[in-house]
Amino acid sequence: MTRNEELFSRAQKTIPGGVNSPVRAFRSVGGAPCFFASGSGARVRDADGKEYIDYVGSWGPLILGHADADTVRAVQEAAMKGLSFGAPTEAEIELAELLVRRVPSMEMVRLVSSGTEATMSAIRLARGFTGRDAIIKFEGCYHGHGDSLLVKAGSGLLTFGNPSSAGVPADLAQHTLVLDYNDAQGLRDAFAKHGKTIACVIVEPVAGNMNLIAPKPEFLAAMRELCTQHGSVLIFDEVMTGFRVGPGSAQGLYGITPDLSTFGKVVGGGMPLGAFGGRRDIMEKIAPLGPVYQAGTLSGNPLSVAAGLVTLKKVGAPGFYDALTAKTRTLVDGLAAAAKKRGVKFSAQSVGGMFGVYFAATPPTSYAEVMASDKEAFNRFFHAMLDAGFYLAPSAFEAGFVSAAHSDADIAATIAAADAIFAAG
Ligand code: PMP
Repeated sequence: MTRNEELFSRAQKTIPGGVNSPVRAFRSVGGAPCFFASGSGARVRDADGKEYIDYVGSWGPLILGHADADTVRAVQEAAMKGLSFGAPTEAEIELAELLVRRVPSMEMVRLVSSGTEATMSAIRLARGFTGRDAIIKFEGCYHGHGDSLLVKAGSGLLTFGNPSSAGVPADLAQHTLVLDYNDAQGLRDAFAKHGKTIACVIVEPVAGNMNLIAPKPEFLAAMRELCTQHGSVLIFDEVMTGFRVGPGSAQGLYGITPDLSTFGKVVGGGMPLGAFGGRRDIMEKIAPLGPVYQAGTLSGNPLSVAAGLVTLKKVGAPGFYDALTAKTRTLVDGLAAAAKKRGVKFSAQSVGGMFGVYFAATPPTSYAEVMASDKEAFNRFFHAMLDAGFYLAPSAFEAGFVSAAHSDADIAATIAAADAIFAAG
């Protein structure tokens, strides 16, 4: 038994499934998950001492790589001054000011401790602001595990949804309308039918929780237009795309201005931190100014804020995203070229520093197309890459991430390893 296997078997006795978040369990790809002991730059080391080049980066936050020296130092310095106060600190203002400067649609912002909290709060705020209950989400988008968001499509087109998790009341799920991603007409039809009742539309502006699906420009544009017409709040869930796909996040990249945005991952630099913000008139409905309640004992935690500040300052360096985008594109182009050379049905694409790989002839544009890709082929590829020392997301339905710490040599080694695996069939 390897040390990883030993730890997994021990963990399962006291932690459900042995993990504190389900996708870590390798259920989708099979086998024992890697228990990580340490990470540095682009590399992680597991409990057996095996090293991997990491393309998960803690599911997105680690845009500077593992244990970035400046981030670690800032966290250490903050820790020496106190772990938490439950009272405001100056650093929180600095982070809020930085966020509203970088993301012009955000006039005000509130800090929370996770992406889930950010989306849950934004949904409540949209409902409180509009006085409406219904929300629209898209199949395959994940917005954290808030009750209103753990909903799958209803049985017919334009019917409200059903819970996708036990424990979510059907009474609540029936307020969530689940539509197809990238289907502007579906959205128009939904607004034509239900427009007056729709509090908000929430969307991943680049979908990263069903592998990676790039938005069709007309999809995002239609969404903006329809929300404005019908008095609904447009929420961009940028928990994954925020400061990952470009300096102004996905809204900057695609030139669409949402009413509210949610952030997580990169904004906390690897520490627990989320944020939601947007139009001043909407944000002023939040307690203590307004009637929509939202709170958190550890919100704006000094260690998280310190990590977030350093990270956002470093990604603000000129050319940061050009370099990250180019490097990520080199990776996906290299993987796709290798597969083509070896006659493997495979495609790949990237947006900024996030990427998708698909065992399908062309990158999918919808949830149905993602589901039609060859999951077994992905699982074999995942394990072959893992054996070769490359840690990809352990699921065919998750995006991957490149960090500033990945070197050109790391990228070349990754392509070479994939080429050998494709060649071996
Ligand atoms: N929204 C999106 C787009 C996400 O990708 C995630 C997490 N992967 C969340 C919300 C939830 O964030 P958290 O896991 O920090 O609660």
